[in-house]
Amino acid sequence: MHEEVTALNPYHMAVQQFEAAAEKLHLSEDMREVLRQPKRELTVNFPVRLDSGRIKTFTGYRVQHNVNRGPAKGGIRYGPDVTLDEVKALAMWMTWKCAVVGIPFGGAKGGVICDPKQMSPAELERLTRRYTTEISIVIGPHSDIPAPDVNTNSQVMAWIMDTYSMHEGFSIPAVVTGKPLSIGGSEGRNDATATGVLFVTRQAAKRIDMPLRGAHVSIQGYGNAGAIAARLFHNEGCKIVAVSDTRGGIYNESGLDPSAVLRHKQERGSVIDFPRAQRVRVQDVLEVPCDILIPAATEGVLTAANAGRVQARIVAEAANGPTTPEADKILFDKDTIVIPDILANAGGVTVSYFEWVQDLQSFFWGVDEITQKLEMIMNRAFSAVAEKADQYHCDMRLAANMQAISSVAEATQVRGIYP
Ligand code: NAD
Repeated sequence: MHEEVTALNPYHMAVQQFEAAAEKLHLSEDMREVLRQPKRELTVNFPVRLDSGRIKTFTGYRVQHNVNRGPAKGGIRYGPDVTLDEVKALAMWMTWKCAVVGIPFGGAKGGVICDPKQMSPAELERLTRRYTTEISIVIGPHSDIPAPDVNTNSQVMAWIMDTYSMHEGFSIPAVVTGKPLSIGGSEGRNDATATGVLFVTRQAAKRIDMPLRGAHVSIQGYGNAGAIAARLFHNEGCKIVAVSDTRGGIYNESGLDPSAVLRHKQERGSVIDFPRAQRVRVQDVLEVPCDILIPAATEGVLTAANAGRVQARIVAEAANGPTTPEADKILFDKDTIVIPDILANAGGVTVSYFEWVQDLQSFFWGVDEITQKLEMIMNRAFSAVAEKADQYHCDMRLAANMQAISSVAEATQVRGIYP
């Protein structure tokens, strides 16, 4: 029963990971009491007029986990399966993620229960504008800064920025990141998550003397994180042997051309039926023969049931929460290096931080400067976490959580408990 609940509920998973790191850090019970709960959970139910003329009420959330190191930061996802517990877990992971790469933000996340694939662009715009208005009591350039996540993109961010700005009476680009370049977005933001995944995977591969050139890579999810990772790893000389989306997977041991797969997905709505590839099930891409596995879709996909069949030597978590605690143990026991989500996909929030800084200064940087700064931050964080993992003989998730939690605990301690 316990295992089942853990696998299915991301918040239980996040708390379990937190407790393991807190235990290892000998964190006081008082500090655990402060850090294990989100600071704010806002639920909003709001009406949206559909194209048919009918009105439908949607439910959305915005959760801020901890803001002791700086304003809250975190993406907004749209999806039929969004739950408050999922958003709470993602908010907590954002707190640790910002701390592990040392950027001055706390953690937040948002979500709206909806099926964006069944909605027109006009309906999505009305939903986004009303949701933004509802959560505007907690978001702002100095309090909580949203960003894209599953099923949201730069257009959605532009609507959020515009709606918030309309209410204030002037443009406030720094309220949200992941915007189009024309309204204060940053160079490099679109590729940032996947670029960060590449940087830390390079470091992990070095540690086991595995050349990236010629390495076989399998990717679950072909959206912002997954499709761009496929392109970047391909450019690095890797063979992308398998990819998938919600409808299924494709496999070719001689390698797929990521740009052709993306064009196919854009035209046909899915990677499936891509010519010159074998059709496999969604879950098969996690188990195909490969050197590097990149889960880039959703939570809880590597579990006690399938972790034993993972063949990759490196699992680089582009997605948040793809591996359950039980699967972590299995992978650690067979010497698979799991680069945990809060480190592996932190490139996204790092370039979001650059975007926010540029917006506040109204002074914009070139892409080379951004990539260079990102690489420095990702490499530094990887080294610190890998060192800690060696020192404590533990997996990189526990090491990353220890690193992050001690930094948030220190900020909390030094600020003190108000009043
Ligand atoms: P996206 O909406 O652009 O793409 C998601 C992809 O995953 C799609 O191809 C979809 O078909 C696929 N997918 C969804 N559910 C699936 C399932 N159950 N099985 C197989 N495939 C499935 O989203 P994204 O922005 O690429 O985010 C993907 C993951 O990366 C999420 O966990 C997100 O939190 C994480 N992430 C994204 C960013 C970012 O900057 N976009 C940053 C950090 C972390």
